[in-house]
Amino acid sequence: MSFDVQTLRAQFPILSTQVNGKPLIYLDNAATTQKPQVMIDALVGFYTQCNANVHRGAHALSDEATRRFENARNSVLTFMNATRREEVIWTKGTTEALNLVANGLSKKLEKNDEIVVTEMEHHANLVTWQQACEASGALLKVARISDSGELDMEHFESLLSERTRFVAFPHASNALGTLNPITAMTAMVKSRGDALVLVDGAQGIAHCEVDVQAIGCDFYAFSGHKLFGPTGIGVLWGRYDVLETWPVWQTGGEMISTVDYQHATWGELPYRLEAGTPNIAGAIGLGAAVEWFTKQDFAALRQHESEVLKYAMELGSEFPGMTLVGTAREKVGVMSFLVDGTHPGDLGFILDQQGVAIRTGDHCAQPLMKRLGVGGTARVSLSIYNTVEDIDALFVALKKAQQMLT
Ligand SMILES: *Cc1c(COP(=O)(O)O)cnc(C)c1O
Repeated sequence: MSFDVQTLRAQFPILSTQVNGKPLIYLDNAATTQKPQVMIDALVGFYTQCNANVHRGAHALSDEATRRFENARNSVLTFMNATRREEVIWTKGTTEALNLVANGLSKKLEKNDEIVVTEMEHHANLVTWQQACEASGALLKVARISDSGELDMEHFESLLSERTRFVAFPHASNALGTLNPITAMTAMVKSRGDALVLVDGAQGIAHCEVDVQAIGCDFYAFSGHKLFGPTGIGVLWGRYDVLETWPVWQTGGEMISTVDYQHATWGELPYRLEAGTPNIAGAIGLGAAVEWFTKQDFAALRQHESEVLKYAMELGSEFPGMTLVGTAREKVGVMSFLVDGTHPGDLGFILDQQGVAIRTGDHCAQPLMKRLGVGGTARVSLSIYNTVEDIDALFVALKKAQQMLT
């Protein structure tokens, strides 16, 4: 089956719109992806056909809303190759998933326990663990990366000890695109003790096949909006025997079993970690996005995306005055760069005037920018629907920006 990118693009209504009078060239997919019509239809379908609260039974609409909501959980379960539906916890997104884990961790850690992260973390996968350390007296260790943005596996290994209780790292770096060998890293941690492993999957989930059993990690977190789904919904997958021991986080409705005026007892997983009325439409939308994504020819998508990335990186390395930031051998579709004599923010502005949407700045990774000796970068991030024509348009726009700015 040959992959036809135009057929794919036609399923995303926004891709045929104009911005600033120019056809939209959307290259900011690491910030959020665009949405296929089937996902939008699922949101509208919920609100027009069965809007009601879930798990409150008692009437037909509520039953249907609950059915769609729990079906979405099952879709995610299958998508990640998880084994039990209790392991799939709805959150607002990656950030909330990490906070949920950090909250429990801060109660479990003791003074001088150690947490290991990497130099390429998004703030969400760093500040959360800093807070857990502050609350518990644990220590945060940071594994080094090379100048090209690859993890130093030897240094990572050297940080693991009997004091290591928790290890967190990104599946892929949002700022550089580096794809980490997460299965090998997890195995390395597990061979040395019983530390828990969390994968920040915010960037991995839309670019890699994720099989949580094969990875062997304890937690995998991602956001719906970076996977063709809505904002305000995400997933914390956790191993059942770990989640079972995890302290409750937020309290309120949905998560309790019995309550009297002085005490409460907690409900079962997954609801125990999902206090309050959930983002029902969001979960249903994400379920539809996942179902849609699952039907695509994944190998063809990866092949296409890596060809577009290769094309972009080649043009980038030939572009006068351009420095590529992040040149790891294994990458998802991210190209971070600087252009001599220009500020990334100015580049982004002039590109936008030409309909080309990229991201500029520190990419929520200030320590990483410091480590690489840059204040920030311009970042092109690809999704499955980007084309080599998008990259040609990018470089035409960049040439113009360069002429205007230097
Ligand atoms: C986007 C991102 C996050 C945070 O995701 P939210 O959707 O903002 O919660 C965390 N880590 C990485 C690597 C990201 O790319």
